Amino acid sequence: MGTAARIEHPTDEMSPFEAATYFFHGAADRLGLHDDMREVLATSYRELAVQVPVRMDDGRMNIYRGFRIQHNGARGPYKGGIRFHQSADLDEVRALAALMTWKNALIDVPFGGAKGGVQCEPGLLSLTEQERLTRRFTEMISYVIGVNRDIPAPDMGTNAQTMAWMMDAYGKKYGYTPGIVTGKPVELGGSPGREEATGRGVIMCTARAAARKGIDLEGASVAIQGFGNVGFWAAAIAAEHGARVVAVSDVGGGTYAPKGIGLDDLATHMTESISVNDYPGGEALSNEELLELDCDILIPAAIEGVIHTKNADAIRAKMVVEAANGPTTPAADKILEDRGVTVVPDILCNSGGVTVSYFEWVQNIQQFRWELDQVNKQLEKRMEAATDAVFSRAQSESTSLRSAAFDIAVERVAHAAEIRGYV
Ligand code: NAD
Repeated sequence: MGTAARIEHPTDEMSPFEAATYFFHGAADRLGLHDDMREVLATSYRELAVQVPVRMDDGRMNIYRGFRIQHNGARGPYKGGIRFHQSADLDEVRALAALMTWKNALIDVPFGGAKGGVQCEPGLLSLTEQERLTRRFTEMISYVIGVNRDIPAPDMGTNAQTMAWMMDAYGKKYGYTPGIVTGKPVELGGSPGREEATGRGVIMCTARAAARKGIDLEGASVAIQGFGNVGFWAAAIAAEHGARVVAVSDVGGGTYAPKGIGLDDLATHMTESISVNDYPGGEALSNEELLELDCDILIPAAIEGVIHTKNADAIRAKMVVEAANGPTTPAADKILEDRGVTVVPDILCNSGGVTVSYFEWVQNIQQFRWELDQVNKQLEKRMEAATDAVFSRAQSESTSLRSAAFDIAVERVAHAAEIRGYV
């Protein structure tokens, strides 16, 4: 299912699934995986495509396309977010499901990989339309999810409220089941620290990686593309570490202040504006200009494919930390590697969210709430261990950090698949 033709020479035009498969095949070659295992791990285990009819507020009926894709479950129940976005098609969701398998294996949580999506524009839907869409989609995929089978979470276009509706819709059919989703509101069994977990994990990983590269995060200049959940928390936590956040941006453009942006002041500005671009405390700049700023650390935390062959040569940061999924095209990745720019890969550095999702699932099963301090300590332990493992592997095998991350992840999943007798 979903076999992507093997591509030898990467380009910017590769689809998300082709890009994910490209990195997988590199690892499979280095690990010498045999053909049957390669086929199992290059394709999805199960792909469910559903129609999601939704009654709109004006009485019309809209039929959306929804997907839940389970890539591999050798290491545990399938786990991955639900994305509401116009580009969430079969190829994109398939790619994200595979990346979840590798991410979960690398950060060493006992989950396989999955992803879901509904092709829609959530910004054009009222809250009641979003609720009806979520409930109907949950009903349609309820046959393949379960606390020990597949556990959804939020992703782009969805949030804690969406998870509350999903939990409620599932519970109506199967009884009270808080562990069916993670990323829920804390009042419904969500974990303290989940909302900021991805951004916090990004900075834990950045601090560890920077130290390895001789960059002191305290005083380092940091530019962040994307000021949503991940970008906002990454900026706030980087500033807590004493970093100078010199630029941030959103879909409307960015703002630049070489001495450092006052994040509290910017947050106040954002209560009255829809973009950071018109923040009076900084100089307006475009998203393209932000990526090419002369800074120590660049954190793309918005969308995929923003670093490509046309700008990879112009990136001046010493280190690129991929908080977003897939921000660097495979072709650009090669250029950055050849130029000696350190790229901390997405499957490592943005795994803090799924790690705290794992803690949430554990708390739901145990029916015992952890303290925030315990969540953050356990998160730090895992982020640091995974970062160290990737750096050591890259050093011992003389590979990039991305290759090392994929090698560790693919090796773990292949081993689990083999001893379970999958292949
Ligand atoms: P979000 O929707 O909260 O924020 C996205 C941000 O990106 C917003 O500021 C938006 O304005 C900006 N943006 C959108 N399109 C843009 C464009 N064309 N150019 C520049 N900026 C643009 O999403 P998020 O949850 O912060 O996720 C961001 C990225 O991190 C995604 O790639 C997501 O898959 C990844 N990620 C998120 C989590 C999580 O826990 N939220 C976990 C792992 C990975």
